Amino acid sequence: MSEIIDSLTRYCKSNGERVTPPRRFVLEIIATSPKPITAYDVLTLLNKHLDDPKPPTVYRALEFLSEHGFIHRIESLNAYIACKENHKHEGSQFMICDKCGQVEEAHLCHVPPALKAQAEQKSFKINYWNVEIHGCCKNCS
Ligand SMILES: [Zn+2]
Ligand SMILES: [Zn+2]
Repeated sequence: MSEIIDSLTRYCKSNGERVTPPRRFVLEIIATSPKPITAYDVLTLLNKHLDDPKPPTVYRALEFLSEHGFIHRIESLNAYIACKENHKHEGSQFMICDKCGQVEEAHLCHVPPALKAQAEQKSFKINYWNVEIHGCCKNCS
């Protein structure tokens, strides 16, 4: 568990960012959550660590953590998961179990460059992309 916090600390140190208490605790809450967790539930749990945290505090921390690749937002669940790949990878694909809600990250690292090349060919400017695959996990099938 403290591994991901260590990783955040090291990353912030070498990039001139600060490990503020909301950033630290929000990451800890998401990393220890057994399932993807919504911003609202993060806020509720953050109450244990901080005195009366407000939604903007949570949103700013979530934004920072996703921007720097420590967490991923699963759009179809409107929830967050911690990145298990040491926050450095090119694009992710997410396999979401519709029965239990577990999310597995896949890293087909050749997909982002291939998509980029296709888009360039068609002079399409990509803002972002998101690959979410719904199905049934090993435990549930
Ligand atoms: Zn990841
Ligand atoms: Zn499942």
